[in-house]
Amino acid sequence: MEIRSERCNMCDNPPCVHCCPTGASHVSDFGKLVQINEDMCIGCKACLAACPYGARYTHPDGYADKCTFCEHRLKVGQDPACVSVCPTHCMHFGDLDDPNSDVSTLLQSRKSKTLLPEAGTEPRVHFLTDTAKK
Ligand code: SF4
Ligand code: SF4
Repeated sequence: MEIRSERCNMCDNPPCVHCCPTGASHVSDFGKLVQINEDMCIGCKACLAACPYGARYTHPDGYADKCTFCEHRLKVGQDPACVSVCPTHCMHFGDLDDPNSDVSTLLQSRKSKTLLPEAGTEPRVHFLTDTAKK
């Protein structure tokens, strides 16, 4: 059994964006994050069906919703709330496009995996699977 914390994987090839008929689901200019413009969402649920991770749900007000990586916090230089409050500091956040960032160094030095790589979504959430490179 594996216990892990899951959320939107902020996929580089996001089917939830490709299938959205209105453009509500989009890749934002800020950090290439996959986000939802709730004012453009018609609640068709195509993105809920397209996400292979079950990362989306319908907000009580009718629009599709999901984790945003706390974009509002990132914009003021803070980590996502889940990273900030984790008591065991098991989550890390950073810029994978920077080869010298802490998260890039972690992925270079330890074993890791992504979820459902066979789905071709190119997830940007990685799970460290050991404590030292083997
Ligand atoms: S995890 Fe699901 S909702 Fe998030 S970007 Fe990937 S396909 Fe879209
Ligand atoms: S539920 Fe909203 S965000 Fe999802 S595919 Fe339909 S219009 Fe786009």
